[in-house]
Amino acid sequence: MAHILVIEDEPEMQRGLRDNLEFEGYTVIAVGDGKKGLETIREKKFDLILLDVMLPGMSGFDLCKKIREEGIPTPVIMLTAKGEEVDKILGLEFGADDYITKPFSLRELLARVKAVLRRTPNEKISTAKKITIGLLQIDVENYTASKKGKSISMTSKEFEILRYLWQHQQQVISRDDLLKHVWGYDESISSRTVDNFVVKLRKNIEKDPSHPKHIVTIHGAGYKLIP
Ligand code: CA
Repeated sequence: MAHILVIEDEPEMQRGLRDNLEFEGYTVIAVGDGKKGLETIREKKFDLILLDVMLPGMSGFDLCKKIREEGIPTPVIMLTAKGEEVDKILGLEFGADDYITKPFSLRELLARVKAVLRRTPNEKISTAKKITIGLLQIDVENYTASKKGKSISMTSKEFEILRYLWQHQQQVISRDDLLKHVWGYDESISSRTVDNFVVKLRKNIEKDPSHPKHIVTIHGAGYKLIP
C-alpha cells in the first residue's frame, strides 16, 4: 500500500488526515513544519505528499518548488484555504499534481488521493524495460547490458541493484534498503558488500568512476541514482 507524507501544521487537521488515510490502509507520516517536511522527503521515499500551503518554517509552495528543483518526482496534492484562487494556480505552477480546497469532504480527498496515485509518474519508471544509466544500457527484462555497443557481463545482483536504484531514482537509498530489497535478510551480507558492488557498477556507468555523477554517495545516508 502507498506511503503518504502529510505536511500540515493544524493539529486537528493533521490528525484527521492521518487517521482517515491509515483507516484506508495507507502508511502515513505526518509533520507540521515545512523544513521538517523537506528533510523527511529527502530521507524517505513516499508515493504521495499532501502539502498544506501556509506552514511554519517554509511555505507549501516553496517546499514544492524546492523538491521539484531537486528532481524529486513524488506526486503532491496541495491543501489550499478557501479563497486562495491565485494560490491554486501557483500550486500547479510550482509543480504540484493537484490541489484540494479546505474545507473538503473526506470522500473528495480520498478520491483525489486515489486518482493521483493511479496516474503516478513512477509507473513509467517501474515498467521500463530498457534503461540507460550513464554509459550503461540495460535490458532489465533479459538481464543484458552494453556499453558503447559492446556487451557487458553483469551478475544478477548487479542488475537487481540497478533496477532498485532506478525505480527509486533521485531518492536517497540507504545501504540497509539495498540489503533488504536485493539480498533479503541474509545476515552474512554486510553494508560493505553493497559498497563493493557500487564500486564495480560505477566502473561501467561513470565516465570518471572516482568522481561519480550517476550513482552518487550521500554521506551518512546512502546512495542516490541520477540517470
Ligand atoms: Ca496551515
